[in-house]
Amino acid sequence: MLDNVPSIANLPVSPPSRPKLLVVDDQPINIQILYQVFSATCQVFMATGGEQALQVCQDKQPDLILLDVVMPEMDGYEVCRRLKADAATAHIPVIFVTAHNDPVQETLGLDVGAVDFIAKPVNPKVVQARVKTQLTLKFQADLLRQLVYLDGLTGVYNRRFFDQQLSNEWARSVRTGTPLSMILLDVDFFKRFNDFYGHQAGDDCLRQVAATLKSNLRRPADLVARYGGEEFACILPETGFDDALELANHLGKHIQALHMDHARSDAATVVSVSLGVAAREGGTGGSAGELLGLADTQLYRAKSTGRARACGERLGERLG
Ligand code: GH3
Ligand code: MG
Ligand code: MG
Repeated sequence: MLDNVPSIANLPVSPPSRPKLLVVDDQPINIQILYQVFSATCQVFMATGGEQALQVCQDKQPDLILLDVVMPEMDGYEVCRRLKADAATAHIPVIFVTAHNDPVQETLGLDVGAVDFIAKPVNPKVVQARVKTQLTLKFQADLLRQLVYLDGLTGVYNRRFFDQQLSNEWARSVRTGTPLSMILLDVDFFKRFNDFYGHQAGDDCLRQVAATLKSNLRRPADLVARYGGEEFACILPETGFDDALELANHLGKHIQALHMDHARSDAATVVSVSLGVAAREGGTGGSAGELLGLADTQLYRAKSTGRARACGERLGERLG
């Protein structure tokens, strides 16, 4: 249905007013030249080597990178290769800025995934125009990605995005040794709600549940997705079990506090949810799929012990 298509205003991320630009060059003077060209219109980050550039990309998620080719230790081609090999940075466009004015080098740059090539010494007007073009393309691509990854009814992320993010966050948690938690939740007696109040009211209920979840997540990296019909899932990076369980209880209370009447529920007089929490707090075993499976088991436990509650378990921990 057309009215289910999310409007641009509902998108989780809109184009920034000050694009983030990363300038990478081993010669500080070259960085300075580009800083002067862009500091009025962009937020400019700087790196003088490949490793530092990769780190800034992880931390700041720039919208575009101006990358020197010849650098000691790691050259620009290798930096670009590594960026393109990592799902978290593969979408960031790279423009090579180099004194090499030769088609072989240029082809190599494009082969490793760059979108453009600019010759040093840079002409400010040329570099500005090319950066503007690439930023426009980047924001259009971001917008398309967001549309592909959003749920049409509720405007939160969809299952496809959730699956990708869960596996990214799992890998990050293993790499950095930080905890990762997730919550799976399901509206109680929702079939009866639909049967009694009608499908439109059901849709409206799902929208309100989604909005409540979204507005009650605390950190920028937290994510909510519609997992299935009346099931939602939250990914909580760098969050341990105790905090995740507390948040789950808090979310459950907030949804009941919407006071959406549910005359046919055996769990409460208003719409309620059951929640399953699972956390990875360390260790080397397990997988993203196991974390999800554990959250599902805990959701089932919440359902079977009375609904309108949260149950949880740490991955690797066995309850008697
Ligand atoms: P439980 O308490 O055990 O979770 O029972 P339940 O009735 O909530 O679960 P069940 O899986 O039996 O029913 C889910 C219902 O959700 C059935 C389906 O029609 C409804 N549903 C799924 N997607 C949508 C949707 O997009 N809009 C509406 N209005 N209903 C939906
Ligand atoms: Mg249900
Ligand atoms: Mg269900």
